[in-house]
Amino acid sequence: MAGTGGKRAGGRIGGPAAVGGTGGGGGGRVGGAGGRGLSRFADLAGARLYRANAFAVTGLPANAQGRAVRQQRQRVEARLAVEETWAGDAVSPWKGAYRRDEVRAAFEELQDPRRRLVDELLCRWGEVDLGCGCPRSLHTDHDAAVRVHALALATEAGHGDVPVGRRGPLWAHAAKTWGRLLGRPELRAHIAHRIGALDDPRLAAHTADDFLAALPRLLVSPFTELAVDPAFRGRLATVCAGWVEQQAFSGLFFELFEGMVEERTERISDGVRSAVALQNSTQYADAARVLLREVVPAYEELGDFRTFLPDWRHDEARHAVAVSLNNLAVALQRHHLLRPPGEAQRRTLLELADKAYEITPERDAQAIEANWRVIHDQFTHPGPGGSGPFRGDRGGTGCARVIVVTVGSAVVVFALGLGSAGGIALVPAGALVCGVAFWWWRLRGRTGTGRRRHR
Ligand SMILES: [Zn+2]
Repeated sequence: MAGTGGKRAGGRIGGPAAVGGTGGGGGGRVGGAGGRGLSRFADLAGARLYRANAFAVTGLPANAQGRAVRQQRQRVEARLAVEETWAGDAVSPWKGAYRRDEVRAAFEELQDPRRRLVDELLCRWGEVDLGCGCPRSLHTDHDAAVRVHALALATEAGHGDVPVGRRGPLWAHAAKTWGRLLGRPELRAHIAHRIGALDDPRLAAHTADDFLAALPRLLVSPFTELAVDPAFRGRLATVCAGWVEQQAFSGLFFELFEGMVEERTERISDGVRSAVALQNSTQYADAARVLLREVVPAYEELGDFRTFLPDWRHDEARHAVAVSLNNLAVALQRHHLLRPPGEAQRRTLLELADKAYEITPERDAQAIEANWRVIHDQFTHPGPGGSGPFRGDRGGTGCARVIVVTVGSAVVVFALGLGSAGGIALVPAGALVCGVAFWWWRLRGRTGTGRRRHR
């Protein structure tokens, strides 16, 4: 009788296709102008954007040139002859000490005006006269943008004592001040003036627009580095929201995270392929381990980039993961119709079904929910907390239990010394009572299975 009444789950769903892959490539590259001589944009990209700034390292003002640079270099090198490190710009939020090689490299950067001008755009201008004739507010806005952005980055690097909960407004302020500044036409005039004032043939091939075109990518470049940290990745969508709103940055984020998205979709694809192969060779435990411990975490990491992904791209990954989980759960459900699972196997089976149901996109939801119901109906423990023994399939084991209960009650009656004609008459009545109690117990057990879907 065993197994004849067990429902079969609706079945596997059309196998998942390989996930993702539009080609794409590298991601996180900075500086379209880099290939045209402005390589400093690419070199500065990353979370140390302001810390590595040549003016911040040397402590020189933005208008320093010629003799002033040489004198400062002599002074700093004399200091570094007797001390391990140099403090750099005292006003910088980076409370770092610069090593000799960092200081030497920073002074070298100032030798090439194409590279120097990039650093100029990212250092504090303060009160110095750059001879540009800009409205005072432009320089004030610029310094505010540099200060708050540098502070946000320094804070994430562990400088200062701004708690995580208060960093959101800092990031939003940085996005707003830089976004507003990049929208001001006076900034172009300022850069054009500086190109003229530096008066060097190496700058002759460049216009203010070359610098303006590469600047936004450099400003958002720290996010790829910061997103490596799972704790920051959890805040990524919130932190980047203010930047995405700004016209100067809005189109940059998909490209920025392309490499990280690719890496995760590849992990999902590889994992799904491997799990399908293991499932086909009935290595169910290994298939489940790959799906639950490798594919699902990669999918959850992909969720951190959800805001920056086209819907179809996320939906494709979601479909592949949900369908793989579902198909393995269904294969296991069938496998265990005749071979009741051990406790660990039962829990794994339920975890697969639950995850499939949580992750499923709308297009697969109906089929996956139907399977989820059958699997839970068959494998969820009846008691609260799910700590009871395996329940078995509905019809087969249920009938067997009724028989056991009936025979058991007869044995009890005889053991009590009622083996007379009157005692024998009690057996059907005892069986009836026990049977009703059993079915009531089953009915209770079926009502407590919680489920939820997310994303
Ligand atoms: Zn100016």
